[in-house]
Amino acid sequence: MYPAFPAPSDQALRAFAEMKAFLAEDVFPAEESYARYREEKGPDDHTVPPVVEELKVRARERGLWNLFLPSESGLTQLEYATIAELSGWSLELAPEAINCQAPDTGNMELLHLVGTPEQQARWLQPLLDGEIRSAFAMTEPAVASSDATNIETSIVRDGDEYVITGRKWWITGAADPRCKVLIVMGKTDPTAPTHRQQSMVIVPVDTPGVEIKRSYPVFGHQDQHGHCVIEFAEARVPVTNLLGEEGGGFAAAQMRLGPGRIHHVMRALGAGERALAMMVARSKSRTAFGGLLAEQSAVREKIAESRIELDQARALCHLAAYTVDAEGNKAARHLIAAAKVAVPRAVLSVIDRAIQLHGAAGISDATPLAALWGWHRAMRIFDGPDEAHLTTLGRAELMRDPLFELPAALHDQFR
Ligand SMILES: Cc1cc2nc3c(=O)[nH]c(=O)nc-3n(C[C@H](O)[C@H](O)[C@H](O)COP(=O)(O)OP(=O)(O)OC[C@H]3O[C@@H](n4cnc5c(N)ncnc54)[C@H](O)[C@@H]3O)c2cc1C
Repeated sequence: MYPAFPAPSDQALRAFAEMKAFLAEDVFPAEESYARYREEKGPDDHTVPPVVEELKVRARERGLWNLFLPSESGLTQLEYATIAELSGWSLELAPEAINCQAPDTGNMELLHLVGTPEQQARWLQPLLDGEIRSAFAMTEPAVASSDATNIETSIVRDGDEYVITGRKWWITGAADPRCKVLIVMGKTDPTAPTHRQQSMVIVPVDTPGVEIKRSYPVFGHQDQHGHCVIEFAEARVPVTNLLGEEGGGFAAAQMRLGPGRIHHVMRALGAGERALAMMVARSKSRTAFGGLLAEQSAVREKIAESRIELDQARALCHLAAYTVDAEGNKAARHLIAAAKVAVPRAVLSVIDRAIQLHGAAGISDATPLAALWGWHRAMRIFDGPDEAHLTTLGRAELMRDPLFELPAALHDQFR
C-alpha cells in the first residue's frame, strides 16, 4: 500500500552530521576564495582554484569520500540522498570536495559495472582517488541527442584499433585540466537493430585526433570544468578500450543515466533549500514601505509556497531513491523520471521567488541566485529533456492496470 522507509543507519547519521559540519566549517568559508580566483582569472579560464584540492583533502580526513557508490560507502541511495542534498547547498564546491560530482560519478559507476580489471586499474582507481577527472561524450550538434539512437559519431574497427570520427558538444568537464579521459558513445554497426548499433569506448584526452575546441557558458556563466565542443578526427584507441560489449552502448547509457539523474535531483534540492534560506534571511533584514519584507503577507506566501514545493519534491526524490535500494534502477526508472521532472521545476520556482525578493541584486552576480537559476533551467534539458521523461511516464500510466474497473454507467449517467 505504501512503502515504509528504513531508519537511517548510524553510519548515515554520522555522515550527515559530518557533512553538515564540513559545509559550515570548511566549504562556505571557501566560497569567497573560489569566486575571487575565478573572477581574477576571467570568464574563459578553466584552471582549478587551489581551494578545491584543499577541500578534497579536508573531506577525506572527515571520511566524506565517494559516498555515492554503495559498494564503496556502505550507504543506501536513500541515505546518500540526504548527503547529496547538503552538497547541493554549495554546488560548485561541495560535490567535488567529496568526490561525488557529475559527470565523474556516472563514469565511475559505469567503469565499476562494466569495466575490465585493466580499465578499472587504469581509470576507475584514479577517479575514485580524485586524482583525475573525466567526461562523458554523447551529445552531438548535428542530431537531436535526446534520442540517443540518433548519435552519428562512427567507431570503426581497424585491426587492433577503433577509429573514432565525429563532433560532440556540451561535454561537461572536458575543459578541466585534470580531465584525462573521455567515455565516448558512437556507432560501431549502423546496420544492426536500432538499439544495438551503439558502443562506448574509453578515449584518453591526449589521443592524437582529439581536439577540445571551446566551452559553452550556461546563460553566460562559464563553469570552471566547462561544457565543450570536441572534435574526433580519426582518433585511434586500442580495441581493449571498448567499454562493455560492442552494441551494448545504448543499454550502458541507460544504466549510467539512472543514478546520474537522481543524484542531480538530490543536489538540486539543496540548492533550492539555499535559495529559500536566502529568501528568509533577506525578508528579515530588508525594510520597504515602513516594514520588514517578512511582515508582508505576499512575502510570507512566497516563503510558504517554496517550503511546500521543496518538501513535495523531496518526497518524490526519496521515494525514487528508496525504490532504487529496494528494487533496483530498472524498477525505479519511472520514479526517477518523475523526480527528474518535478524537482528542477520546484527548485526553479523557489529560486525565481528568491531572485524577486532580492530585487536587482538577485539577477546580478552579487548573489549565487542567477547562476543557480541558469543551472537548474539547464537541468530541464540535460539528462533527458522534460518532454522525453513525460512521454515515458504518460505511456506507463496508460499501460497501468486500473485499480477499479468502473462500470461504464458511472460515467454515462450525466449525459
Ligand atoms: C549544462 C549541460 C550539460 C550537459 N552535459 C552533457 C555531457 O556531459 N555529455 C553529453 O553527452 N551531453 C551533455 N549535455 C547535452 C544534453 O544531454 C542534451 O542537450 C540533451 O540530451 C538534449 O539533446 P539536444 O540538445 O540535442 O536536444 P534535442 O534532442 O534536439 O531536443 C530539443 C527539444 O526537443 C523537444 N523534445 C525532445 N524529445 C521530445 C519528445 N520525446 N517529446 C516532445 N518533445 C521532445 C524538447 O523540448 C527538447 O528540449 C549537456 C547539456 C547541458 C545544457
